[in-house]
Amino acid sequence: MIPLDGQALARRLNQELARQVPALPRPPGLAVVLVGEDPASRVYVSRKGTVAHRLGFVHRQVDLAADTSLPDLLRVVDALNADPTIDGILVQLPLPAHLDAAAVADRIDPRKDVDGLTATNAGLLVQGRVGHVPCTPLGVMALLAEAGVTLRGARAVVVGRSNIVGRPMAQLLEHADCTVTLAHSRTRDVAALVRSAEIVVAAVGRPEFVAADWIAPGAVVVDVGINRLPDGRLVGDVVGAGLDHAAFVTPVPGGVGPMTIAMLMQNTFRAATA
Ligand code: NDP
Repeated sequence: MIPLDGQALARRLNQELARQVPALPRPPGLAVVLVGEDPASRVYVSRKGTVAHRLGFVHRQVDLAADTSLPDLLRVVDALNADPTIDGILVQLPLPAHLDAAAVADRIDPRKDVDGLTATNAGLLVQGRVGHVPCTPLGVMALLAEAGVTLRGARAVVVGRSNIVGRPMAQLLEHADCTVTLAHSRTRDVAALVRSAEIVVAAVGRPEFVAADWIAPGAVVVDVGINRLPDGRLVGDVVGAGLDHAAFVTPVPGGVGPMTIAMLMQNTFRAATA
């Protein structure tokens, strides 16, 4: 089994991007909006800021109280849409329950929607047209390409159908000529389905949901999950041990996570230079 080192690939892609920034008329600008105090979200947002600074981007973090109203949040998005120094806007999910995430996403100018969450960009992805693609599945595709995984004709199973990970992941794999099955909480016998897959992407949000004996010999295993256990350990959606029979496995942490941030930078750079 070979680990798919997202840390190393992300570092390389970030360095390549950083070299291109000084040649631009102005640095790319990324705004990240954080509503509330979710500790995990705070960590992710601060990592995005650190990488953006390192690349020479303009970075603005907008911190809003957990009880921010929808109209107030939409006003913040409007101001960022109108700001010529900002090329990319990311509203960190999950939002507090009283805020309609779809309404917020759709307020973002699709050209600045660097997490690919607007209906416009989601629609472009479905049709295989150029738009902003959600960062996590884009990062997974980059990892698979780096490892030289053959996608054409491969049987892929994606577990989880969120708009930000599972669904766009399935679409990207299908565009790359995989035969894709998208599994979710109502799927019968997920284990049997996963056993049939040459490529497995787990984006479930349940610690170690996918067992080692679900994985077929020689399969490629992409673990998107990040779960903090009560004892403080960080684990994925796939069990961490007993996967020697797989061909490739993404570690948690150090697999998909850093690639998500690298793709956010790529999307923002692309928005700035479009
Ligand atoms: P969501 O909670 O939005 O979606 C989870 C999906 O898993 C849903 O589609 C749900 O099905 C499905 N699911 C839940 N239980 C089961 C089950 N028993 N069997 C099969 N499917 C099930 O999560 P996200 O997509 O936002 O995130 C998934 C994971 O990825 C999380 O651990 C998250 O922390 C992580 N993540 C990691 C990122 C990274 O950069 N590495 C970025 C984003 C997320 P249904 O639709 O039927 O409810």
